[in-house]
Amino acid sequence: MSSTLANNIQLTREGISQVVASEIKLNSAFIDGEWVDLGVSTEEEAALYDPNSGDVIAQTALCSADHVDLAAQAASAALAPWSQTTGAQRASYLNALADAMQQQFDTLVGLSVLNNGKPIAEAQIDVSDAIACYRYYAKLAAAQLAQTTVATNEPGIRLYKSLEPIGVCALIVPWNFPMVTTAWKLAPALAAGCTVLLKPSEVTLLPELMLGNILSNLSNMGFPKGVVNILPGAAAVGAAMTRHPLIDKVSFTGSNGVGEKVMAQAAIGAKDISLELGGKSAIIVRADADIDAACELIIGGIFTNAGQICSATSRLIVHQDIAQALYQQLKAKTMQLTIGDGFAEATQMGPLVSAAQLSQVRKYFAIAKDEQLECLVGGENSGDNNHSEASLPDSGYFVAPTIYTDVPTSSRLWQEEIFGPVLVTTTYQHDDEAIQLANDSNYALAATLVSADEEKALAMAARVRAGHIWINEQQIVLPEAGWGGFKQSGIGRELGEDGLAAYQKSKHILLPA
Ligand code: NAD
Repeated sequence: MSSTLANNIQLTREGISQVVASEIKLNSAFIDGEWVDLGVSTEEEAALYDPNSGDVIAQTALCSADHVDLAAQAASAALAPWSQTTGAQRASYLNALADAMQQQFDTLVGLSVLNNGKPIAEAQIDVSDAIACYRYYAKLAAAQLAQTTVATNEPGIRLYKSLEPIGVCALIVPWNFPMVTTAWKLAPALAAGCTVLLKPSEVTLLPELMLGNILSNLSNMGFPKGVVNILPGAAAVGAAMTRHPLIDKVSFTGSNGVGEKVMAQAAIGAKDISLELGGKSAIIVRADADIDAACELIIGGIFTNAGQICSATSRLIVHQDIAQALYQQLKAKTMQLTIGDGFAEATQMGPLVSAAQLSQVRKYFAIAKDEQLECLVGGENSGDNNHSEASLPDSGYFVAPTIYTDVPTSSRLWQEEIFGPVLVTTTYQHDDEAIQLANDSNYALAATLVSADEEKALAMAARVRAGHIWINEQQIVLPEAGWGGFKQSGIGRELGEDGLAAYQKSKHILLPA
């Protein structure tokens, strides 16, 4: 890899800040294989914050609608040659991208920690998962046949089927898993032969700007220009992308409110659409569960990434016979969590990503107070509970890992996605009741079942409405398994073979035998 990319960096705030200063192309967009200077051509700006301190890391200009147009023209021009490459050729580009990311592993990890606040260990999992995703779709691209024969009952006829790329795609991602949500879209889109406009979240631009460096380097090594364009921007850029006449498909991950707008915007020109939206996933703990193991699964399911996970298991449904014993252990283990700087090795939970997310979570603390919910641990100004405001770092966007027990299902905290480290619990008597409680949500993204009886858990899993169910595991997402929910959790599936199909359309050719 070229010496222009940062190697041998120090995985510390200082080391990564140096990378930002020397390597990251602020005030730039990656369009048609080149870095385009935004400084003089746009008025919109974004500040990038370090969530650990609330300090500004950098200030950057954002794209305008004109840049979206430039990128759409570039992606449109690149579509014909890129879509005509073989699956094996696309696989070799995807593997080259994965190799280059592997070489920049610590840099990508550090930029995620600096810009998102997550602990190093979590960022390492993210970058590894993203790399695995590019390699997985390389394998699928290489294995897929360009054309197959379809058997028919009609004599004297031949029928052929091919899978064609959908076209130019607008990929819009959120801030909670930079690199990962990008990989879930970019890898299958490229494997399918599509060209893309990628819009990272304006909150966490740094990791995807580094991806731009990697792609720029690959362009210099023969990766076709215009196939991937990266557009730093906020809502206006996302809206311009989804409305643009050269865009054939929109793939969006984010909140339900914005997802609905995106769907309306993409209706212009009848664009294909995939939406990965919110969740309020249940974790059911049966009476036969090991309490220690259950606590680990509950804590991992809600406090990883400070609860900013679409599939966070934020509603605990526990059998009444073990509820009190479990609550005691859960409280003790939650109070032992080390909250702090993502760069510190001991940190188990970092800050929230932004001041906006902090006020969102605090809003729910206030609602909990209004609703007189029972706070087991955490919350705001929760007195003698450890990890109350008083024991948190005094700068940055920190909140305490929080649990409210015996929350009525009518509560807003039970029903709404908080997107922070806040768990609500209730108890049940019979399996049927647990399933009914789990399914009583507008969302249906994921669920976890904890039980010593695998057969019973599997029977319950068949009745829980969710796209992904873990039994005695939590939050493991493999590239081979399709991802997405039912109900308002979205439209379509990412990952797995479904994830590739989301960027393809079938074409049939019929002729005499
Ligand atoms: P968000 O909806 O605020 O923003 C998502 C992206 O949309 C950002 O890049 C943003 O700039 C862009 N955007 C904003 N307005 C737009 C518009 N009008 N047109 C086009 N793009 C626009 O979401 P967020 O706060 O970044 O992320 C948190 C949300 O994402 C949560 O609701 C979470 O559940 C969801 N999420 C879902 C999944 C999943 O797989 N289902 C994964 C991660 C996050």
